[in-house]
Amino acid sequence: MQRFEDFGLSTEMLNALSKKGFEEPSEIQKLVVPELLKERTHLIGQAQTGTGKTAAFGIPILETIDADKTVRALILAPTRELANQVSDEIYSLKGEKDIKVLAVYGGASIENQIKRLKAGVDIVVGTPGRVMDLINKKVLKVNGLDYFVLDEADEMLNMGFLEDIEEILEKTNDEKKMLFFSATIPKAILAIAKRFMPEHKLLKVEKKELTTNLTEQIYYEVKQEDKFEALCRVLDYEQNFYGIVFCRTKSEVDDVTNKLKARNYDAECIHGDITQALRQKALDLFKKQILTILVATDVAARGIDVSNLTHVINYSIPQEAESYVHRIGRTGRAGHRGIAITFVTPREASKLAQIKRVTKTDIKREDIPNVEEILEAKKEALVAYVDEIIKESDFNAYEELAQRLIEGRDARQVLASVLRHVYEDEFLPDNYNEIADVKVKINDKTRLFIALGSKDGYNVGRLLDLLNKKARTPGRKVKDVKIMDKYSFITVPLQEAEYIMRALNSKKDAKPLVEEATGSRNGGGEKSGKKSDRRRDRKGRKKSSDKKSGKSGKKSDKSSKGKKDKKTRKVKK
Ligand code: ADP
Ligand code: MG
Repeated sequence: MQRFEDFGLSTEMLNALSKKGFEEPSEIQKLVVPELLKERTHLIGQAQTGTGKTAAFGIPILETIDADKTVRALILAPTRELANQVSDEIYSLKGEKDIKVLAVYGGASIENQIKRLKAGVDIVVGTPGRVMDLINKKVLKVNGLDYFVLDEADEMLNMGFLEDIEEILEKTNDEKKMLFFSATIPKAILAIAKRFMPEHKLLKVEKKELTTNLTEQIYYEVKQEDKFEALCRVLDYEQNFYGIVFCRTKSEVDDVTNKLKARNYDAECIHGDITQALRQKALDLFKKQILTILVATDVAARGIDVSNLTHVINYSIPQEAESYVHRIGRTGRAGHRGIAITFVTPREASKLAQIKRVTKTDIKREDIPNVEEILEAKKEALVAYVDEIIKESDFNAYEELAQRLIEGRDARQVLASVLRHVYEDEFLPDNYNEIADVKVKINDKTRLFIALGSKDGYNVGRLLDLLNKKARTPGRKVKDVKIMDKYSFITVPLQEAEYIMRALNSKKDAKPLVEEATGSRNGGGEKSGKKSDRRRDRKGRKKSSDKKSGKSGKKSDKSSKGKKDKKTRKVKK
């Protein structure tokens, strides 16, 4: 079954789908929707972020529940944004059907939510904390559920919601079916699935090419203290920047955002400590591309469905290769070209190596744009912008003033003065700070601890044999073998370490046989200050012209924003 029409959906649903512009079901929808329409069953659905998992469970829920204004489906989501997003998506899918959908989460008035619940609701989408509250207040009744859904299940567990989820589940009726949806299925999810739904279907969409060829992936070698300067250079160099800057922690998000604002960039941020209203506002502006720089943590940005970004900046390299994929998946989609830039400090080198390995993509080293390049790019953009205004003859209000200014004056000097007045130091090299050169050594080694020693019958030869047999690691790649009574140590290249751990740590074992000895990675060392001229010609990747034409609708926003910035800058001085 390849089309929505083949699923036997109601007319209301088909209308809603066509109104939403869904032409055909996504892969996960093709798997899940017919399955749930055929019979209610426990199910785990796995597919990458942005592949339409919401509709995969939303469509069958909307099609099969009794819409009698008692809660028939309870959907848990990890954050308020996601709860809102899921409820919006379901609301738009319900079309003409008389089904009430309500999102409940902390940070919004509980009285309103109570009022709505009392008035009768069919589908509740909520964050665990608020859902618990409402259950305890006896206004949310969860003993008549047809469905219990965990959305972004992996993230829910990451965020420590397991106990809340269990507590909520205890209050629910036995007959309900449970649906878990997630981009990844870590063991912990399988474990709770096993506990709560002994028989379930596992439907998953194998990860396609992790990244598309439309996303160019590069990294910059940079010292931690130069990251911010590097970010500013990227923002200035890329004239049509529309992207997310990913940071590791909330405080880093705040820090970067505040510094950006101080330098007159129009940036906003989202993370868990920011009020719902403010987050929503930032998101709305960002989606409309009025705001073009969003600084975020992984969790806050998780699942936010913007996909046409020109840039994803990994200000801090993600801890997991999975997050890297999620992050950069927001660019280079739907025919939009995108660039993913990862800042890598020497200490983060091993993470980069790991990401390269897991994603099997080449992340190319590039040089941070230097000051001349940036200024040149800015000048080019200004010229193009002026040409455009002339073409649209959008300057009439100023013609008279222009005439007055050039009368009796040298036109070039007049223009230069006006430019200086408007741009101040913006086209001057002093506007930028130095960035120290730093070398990031990627192919480093790691020391592994192996829980096998001489008491288990191992000597050097036997251990090498084992590694060779199980992980196909050639003996020459294994260095500094040390065999103790009950365990051993070896040093291997990171890539081999990955193979070895995967091969020797069988899935069922609670305690892994092989682990990285802590603090073993040498991370390449801080070999900074070595001035090697490795600037390359970056012209090749300056697709400014095609990006411009692709996003011309944004021009005016951007320019008016630019003007506003100038004003703020004036006031500041
Ligand atoms: P996930 O939960 O897998 O990350 P979402 O459910 O948030 O993905 O969907 C991502 C985006 O794709 C949303 O904007 C959604 O409306 C859209 N979408 C979902 N299914 C389809 C479809 N069949 N055709 C077109 N767009 C779709
Ligand atoms: Mg989702």
